[in-house]
Amino acid sequence: MRPISVLRNLPAMAGVFAANPQMLLVRPSLTRFMCSYMNKFKVRRVGHNLILHSHLPPLNSKAYSRFVDIHLISQTAGPSHAQIAITNLCPQNCSYCYNKDRGGEVMDADTIIKVAAQLKEMGMVWFGITGGEPLLSRDIVRIVAAVSEDCAVKLFTTGCTLTRDLAAGLRDAGLFSVSVSLDHWDETVHDAARGYRGAFREALRAIDMFKALGDIDVGVSAVLSRDTIRAGGTEEFLEFLEGLGIHEAWLSEVKPSAGIFRDEERVITEEDRLGLVRLQDRYNACGKMTVNYLGHFEGKECFGCNAAHKMVYVDAFGEVSPCVFTPMSFGNVHELEIPSLFAKMKSCFPSDSKCFINKNYRLFDRYSNGKKVLGPEESLRLMDEVEFGERAEFFKLYYEVENSGRVMPAGGSQSEAEN
Ligand code: SF4
Repeated sequence: MRPISVLRNLPAMAGVFAANPQMLLVRPSLTRFMCSYMNKFKVRRVGHNLILHSHLPPLNSKAYSRFVDIHLISQTAGPSHAQIAITNLCPQNCSYCYNKDRGGEVMDADTIIKVAAQLKEMGMVWFGITGGEPLLSRDIVRIVAAVSEDCAVKLFTTGCTLTRDLAAGLRDAGLFSVSVSLDHWDETVHDAARGYRGAFREALRAIDMFKALGDIDVGVSAVLSRDTIRAGGTEEFLEFLEGLGIHEAWLSEVKPSAGIFRDEERVITEEDRLGLVRLQDRYNACGKMTVNYLGHFEGKECFGCNAAHKMVYVDAFGEVSPCVFTPMSFGNVHELEIPSLFAKMKSCFPSDSKCFINKNYRLFDRYSNGKKVLGPEESLRLMDEVEFGERAEFFKLYYEVENSGRVMPAGGSQSEAEN
């Protein structure tokens, strides 16, 4: 495989800088970090979008411009990324599902749109639509259209029930990226993992429908078990995905969110994580398909764990959690406004270089009182026992006021720290 050339993204990045002259106001240490991070990937043009990978807004979009203004320059305390489950309905039954045991009063579309608007005011520039199966929501197109003007909207779906009209409607509403779930290259294994016969074929059909649009970023999201990772199955899987002609493989490992996965034998180690990072880098040096491993983005050498720090998850019932993989709630949007819920949650979560759930899953059984998802009181009690480690490389730089050596609090903005 060819080594990554520092020049390969130069023409695209020159255009991005020209469109965002305010990037000159970003602190040099952060600019150097972002350039070095971006050089690990090949910038792709998909339709009118320049895409590094789908966990960041397109680099030439209004959403990215807001990311530079709000997060890199003003250093707001709000989230940059959020996910909302727009329905809890799902025809599939994955053993590792992080949503299965949640319940309550379902949010209607107006509530979802209001929460998303508040999140945008707080700093959200990337919005992940999830479920349940989000395509089962009759309001999905309306929700995408309400958010997408200056915020990158990505869909996570099984592909079940997609029609050509719906795919086109989502694209027209402003969806920039979609990840269809596939857990294995073998149809039987995938269908068994999903508890749904035909899941594999429906996923491939949906991938083809989105690809046929021609101007939307199409990826596969794959949840890898530790056994698959250690048996070298990831490479075989990536070969298969490359053959599908998609833009991106979005990889994550099975997280110890649900009870049966809170087992030391199933949780990956740092060595496993680093092996996947090396595999990602090898693939991205080739540049045929982007490999975007979440454990790299969220690794200590990059941005670390963003749970409740720059990331927030709102489930279909309005419960607010640090991220999709953390089965704990800090309150409900039916009762309190999202800005105060996020602030309360964030005060418990200084930025950390390690995945919160991978590191602390053992505490959940102790504090759950038999509940599958911890309520606000249990969550606060659990947090009293959590020890946070050092920040990841990006946030070490982010909270360091250059030339003074002072470090800002994770919950504060630069101006607050300077007052
Ligand atoms: S807890 Fe793990 S999965 Fe959740 S945001 Fe942190 S690193 Fe990501």
